[in-house]
Amino acid sequence: MSTRSGLPFFQELCRASDSGARRGRLLLAHGSVETPCFMPVGTQASVKALSPDDLLSCGAQIILGNTYHLYLRPGHELIGELGGLHKFMGWNGPILTDSGGFQIYSLAQMCRIQEEGAEFRSHIDGSLHRLTPELVVEIQEALGSDIMMPLDVCIPYGASYDEAVNALERTTRWAIRCKNAQKRRELALFAIIQGGMFPELRRRSAQELLALGMDGYAIGGLSVGEPKDVMLQILGEVRPVIPRCYPVYLMGVGTPEDLVDAVDLGVDMFDCVMPTRNARNGKIFTSFGHIVIKNAQYAGDNRPIDEECQCYTCRNFSRAYLRHLFMANELLVYRLLSIHNIYYYQSLMKSMRDAIEADEFQSFKGKFYEKRSVKQ
Ligand SMILES: [Zn+2]
Repeated sequence: MSTRSGLPFFQELCRASDSGARRGRLLLAHGSVETPCFMPVGTQASVKALSPDDLLSCGAQIILGNTYHLYLRPGHELIGELGGLHKFMGWNGPILTDSGGFQIYSLAQMCRIQEEGAEFRSHIDGSLHRLTPELVVEIQEALGSDIMMPLDVCIPYGASYDEAVNALERTTRWAIRCKNAQKRRELALFAIIQGGMFPELRRRSAQELLALGMDGYAIGGLSVGEPKDVMLQILGEVRPVIPRCYPVYLMGVGTPEDLVDAVDLGVDMFDCVMPTRNARNGKIFTSFGHIVIKNAQYAGDNRPIDEECQCYTCRNFSRAYLRHLFMANELLVYRLLSIHNIYYYQSLMKSMRDAIEADEFQSFKGKFYEKRSVKQ
């Protein structure tokens, strides 16, 4: 168990006997988080279409904010002056912020990576910016993030071995600079394991970063276009390298199936835009697979989205009503479908936590897949 300020930061509570799955608890500046957990994505200090009360009623324990977006607009100094991100957005639970690295590579109009940092043009107004490892920590400390991520070097799927080596070496050097820049010790600082699709580089990245004694370890650069079996293979190679005393976070993943498979391999934390983005597109997750609400078959369907779901939407509204709202572009539909999808993800994580505690994880996983294969 790692300790900071006398407070246990991560506790492993129990392990499944037939799986790498485990139950744990994160103790953070704004409260505790039961793991395995899923973090809804609140890019611009808002989980799209949902209020903090909605998130709590869906069972969310911790949310994710995007450093890149908040740095550009409204600016971390302003949020800091106004009392920090929690106060600014009215969410009192834990928050993890990413480093902005992934967004620089994927959203910025121009991106030049040098040893000092990353230079880029804002996707909003084209203005020129430079993020360094030190500035990324300064931004996240101004936001007051319970868990901060260091600036890392992301590479595209299909990158060469040499590119992967260079990226992982710079990622380690930048992690050291981030750790040296940290002033607020009550906030956790994770490291991000890179190494592309090369198992030996993944192990090397993990070992270099473990030597730094960070507060937790994230696995970055997966779910970037590789086949799912490659993702699980890399995960299976790198996960055992990380000692049990550290929380393990698989970044940007994924579908309900991905979550179940990754928990099976011992992952503790997840984030993904999928439940909220899909909700806004009318794609809804259920215990029997996904449904597309605009399909004509739901026009007169008086049933809830999922008979087993206890969310506000399923307790009060029919598929027919939700389809009507969607077809009429009524704003309410974004909230109602987002509530359902986030509730579904949180319920899935709760079911996995219960299954691990009962030491029935493989049985849970078998039933999870069996149910999805049955045509409703
Ligand atoms: Zn529901």
